[in-house]
Amino acid sequence: MDQKSGKISVVDTHAHLDFENFNSDRDAVIKNARLANVAAIINIGINLETIKKSIALAESHDFIYATAGIHPHDANEMKSDQWDEFIELLRHPNIVAIGEIGLDYYRDYSPHDVQKKILERQLELAVEHDLPVVVHTRNAWQDVMPIFTEQYRGKLKGVFHCFSGLESEAKAVLDAGYFISFTGVVTFKNANALNIAAHYVPLDRLLLETDCPFMAPEPFRGKRCEPAHVPYIAKKIAEARGMDLAELAKQTNQNVEKLFGIKII
Ligand SMILES: [Zn+2]
Ligand SMILES: [Zn+2]
Repeated sequence: MDQKSGKISVVDTHAHLDFENFNSDRDAVIKNARLANVAAIINIGINLETIKKSIALAESHDFIYATAGIHPHDANEMKSDQWDEFIELLRHPNIVAIGEIGLDYYRDYSPHDVQKKILERQLELAVEHDLPVVVHTRNAWQDVMPIFTEQYRGKLKGVFHCFSGLESEAKAVLDAGYFISFTGVVTFKNANALNIAAHYVPLDRLLLETDCPFMAPEPFRGKRCEPAHVPYIAKKIAEARGMDLAELAKQTNQNVEKLFGIKII
């Protein structure tokens, strides 16, 4: 807790500040995050172009970190001769994870076999480079599950982001050692995600994220989301768990340090 302002310090573990939604006021949005006591932001790369933009953001702001991933939506665009460039980006000192990666059969922008191939390649790289993974999965649980909880069990560490699955799915992910991260969806009425966050995820496996510009929490629902909103997500989860907000903030920050190897000040 920041004693002077009374604000809690939290981390946004999943942001897309490079998206064009922020083109007109990106600097102001980053400043807002600072004012809201967001201690760190992890900006997520989803293809070669956005990985480079994420790295650029991290290079110019000491509290922003970057990840390198080929999103399932972009799997089809990734050509075999581009992996050398990907690996080079991966080695950048500001890269803290591989992601977001996974399978998405909801949008279905890339064929399933291509999505799987691109995911597998990145999981091999995560093991090889000893980096955590940020996992995106939608309507693909039956295929995602065996890859992460059987094939790569014990070989990988990572987080299942924007979790909105079932209790059984949360249990499988937790049993296999992964973290689970929640967005503003927990603030929506009848949110199953809130129930999972409150009752199924141990405090030492819980992470917070905005997934901005998407998923703005109440009272901003429907508007553009930004990292400054992450305290609202923390507050909602702390309330639902019947615990002190400062304690939730402290523990989730420790989780960030543990998973991503970042020092949160
Ligand atoms: Zn995602
Ligand atoms: Zn995302």
